[in-house]
Amino acid sequence: MTNKPKLKLATTSLAGCFGCHMSFLDMDERLVELLEQIEFDRSPFTDIKQLGPCDIGLIEGGVCNAENVHVLRTFREHCRILVAVGACAINGGVPAMRNHYSLQECLEEVYLNSPDTVNPHIPNDPELPLLLDKVYPVHEVVKIDYFLPGCPPTGDAFYSLLKDLIGGREPQVEKGRLRYD
Ligand code: SF4
Repeated sequence: MTNKPKLKLATTSLAGCFGCHMSFLDMDERLVELLEQIEFDRSPFTDIKQLGPCDIGLIEGGVCNAENVHVLRTFREHCRILVAVGACAINGGVPAMRNHYSLQECLEEVYLNSPDTVNPHIPNDPELPLLLDKVYPVHEVVKIDYFLPGCPPTGDAFYSLLKDLIGGREPQVEKGRLRYD
């Protein structure tokens, strides 16, 4: 009998706080069970930088700069199933609070007008990714297959989602396991 090949899972954080990644780890010992059926590709958990062909991609965070757009498009190209994970990915979340102001107003407030600013100037090093005019939810940039809400989603919700996807089923996360904060 041949062993079923493991599914490849990649994760990334765009404009997020890594809280969704921390909550992923709340699956605790169930991660050991999942790792019999999946293996990580690019992810902060592995530190792999180059994304290969993947079955599932989990996206944390909204899209705030040109690098986020590039990473998100790369995930869409390489991942068969793409999941928006958490409030920031789904609606912009906390980072999108800057959308109430123009980009120029945000930059001036942070780098020029803050009371404890030293050497006030707006950074323009070419190494810095260009900021977008506002923070976008990921589905406004690429097609997203599934959404896992919460700030962050619970470890139980991650487990339920992944078990269904690994089993080739439509994800049916129970209401009690979902959060909408
Ligand atoms: Fe952090 Fe919440 Fe955004 Fe997840 S949804 S990246 S926990 S702020």
